[in-house]
Amino acid sequence: MSLSVHFGQPCSHAAQVKVRTVTRPAPACEECLKLGSHWVHLRECLTCGHVGCCDSSPNRHATQHFLATQHPIITSAEPGETWAFCYVDQRIV
Ligand SMILES: [Zn+2]
Ligand SMILES: [Zn+2]
Ligand SMILES: [Zn+2]
Repeated sequence: MSLSVHFGQPCSHAAQVKVRTVTRPAPACEECLKLGSHWVHLRECLTCGHVGCCDSSPNRHATQHFLATQHPIITSAEPGETWAFCYVDQRIV
């Protein structure tokens, strides 16, 4: 299902996000598929739409994506979850 992104307590980065709707569940972590690895939960970057896996997953591709790009905010791509998190501010937004 495609749902609009809603910020409860937006930080200074929230105004810059380009992705305004998120499909939950996301299909896959493409980087894990290429590696033949697996993931626990999926996160979507709200700057470019990149889907990566969470910090409970062996490869932590969502965090790797932030470290590589500095794209600040991710949201959960799991069904029923709507939270978003800013890596720069280290809090739910
Ligand atoms: Zn922020
Ligand atoms: Zn991954
Ligand atoms: Zn991104």
